[in-house]
Amino acid sequence: MIYDVCVIGGGPAGMFSAFYSASRRMNTVLIEGNHELGGRLNLFLDYEIYDIPGQFGVLARDYKRALIEQLKVSRSNLLLGEIVEKIENSDELFYVTTTQQTILAKTIIAATGNGFSEAKRIEHAQISKKIQYDQPAFKQYEGPIAVIGHTPMAADWAIQLMGYGNEVTLYTQQELKIQPILMDGLANNNILIYKFSEFNDQAYEAVFCHIGSKKYTIDFKGCIAQRDNGLTNCRGYFVAGEARYEQGKLKLIHGATHDAMQAVNAAFQYIHEGATYQPIVSTHDPIFKEWLK
Ligand SMILES: Cc1cc2nc3c(=O)[nH]c(=O)nc-3n(C[C@H](O)[C@H](O)[C@H](O)COP(=O)(O)OP(=O)(O)OC[C@H]3O[C@@H](n4cnc5c(N)ncnc54)[C@H](O)[C@@H]3O)c2cc1C
Repeated sequence: MIYDVCVIGGGPAGMFSAFYSASRRMNTVLIEGNHELGGRLNLFLDYEIYDIPGQFGVLARDYKRALIEQLKVSRSNLLLGEIVEKIENSDELFYVTTTQQTILAKTIIAATGNGFSEAKRIEHAQISKKIQYDQPAFKQYEGPIAVIGHTPMAADWAIQLMGYGNEVTLYTQQELKIQPILMDGLANNNILIYKFSEFNDQAYEAVFCHIGSKKYTIDFKGCIAQRDNGLTNCRGYFVAGEARYEQGKLKLIHGATHDAMQAVNAAFQYIHEGATYQPIVSTHDPIFKEWLK
């Protein structure tokens, strides 16, 4: 099977790329290294987002759910839990090797955000089972809570958990590397900060840790100097979302989904030589009503 479009990354840019690509009648596969879609949205599921047009105060969790529902309507192929390790290209085809298989595609949309990463684990054999590396559920817990980490995310978790009436202590292995506004947040909430060497997990009902992430990079020699509009110097290889960089670009969801449409359009034009630049608007396209049947 040769796919028209292989989307790498299942964050907002990747999910919307796959949806939009399928709507342009391209046979599409989306590969996500995590076992769950959502990308960076998974880091702040219980936060409200205010800067997506028409979505004032939407919970990241709800926005993620809406993106997944929209993607699923398109019946794009999804490969979850497969990290793309290597890409090779020859004879106008891309060979995309994941941790489990090799996929063939005519085009690539790299929507890899900041790259595949996993939360760094803390080296502490006795307590490792108790430590949770995902975003905490923001609620009132029965007992005291510990947060471990020196990152802005760890500080933010501590402040948010305090806001739910919890007793929170922050433990750091190294100097806090956080913005003044977060430093003020810790001080204003009277959050106690101790060295990690003083940590004793017995005292806590739950322990959350954010000490940064371990990053994996894709081995691809065929590319890629990026140009404007998500185009690259490699024919058939396009970039969308946070992975796409250009002077002054904002790293926000709204732009990421706009990039996705541009990248899909570029892939469509690459596959269908001579296709007009402007796609048909969705209101005039019968495919969406067919999908909803
Ligand atoms: C705490 C926090 C709060 C934020 N608040 C806002 C906000 O209020 N408003 C806003 O607009 N934006 C906000 N953002 C930014 C927003 O989350 C990003 O702009 C958006 O997620 C970018 O989408 P993306 O799809 O480009 O990348 P990502 O969401 O990073 O998704 C990339 C995906 O690609 C996958 N991937 C990468 N490499 C590989 C590989 N080799 N193989 C397989 N999969 C791979 C990753 O696992 C990931 O799932 C916030 C971000 C954070 C962290």
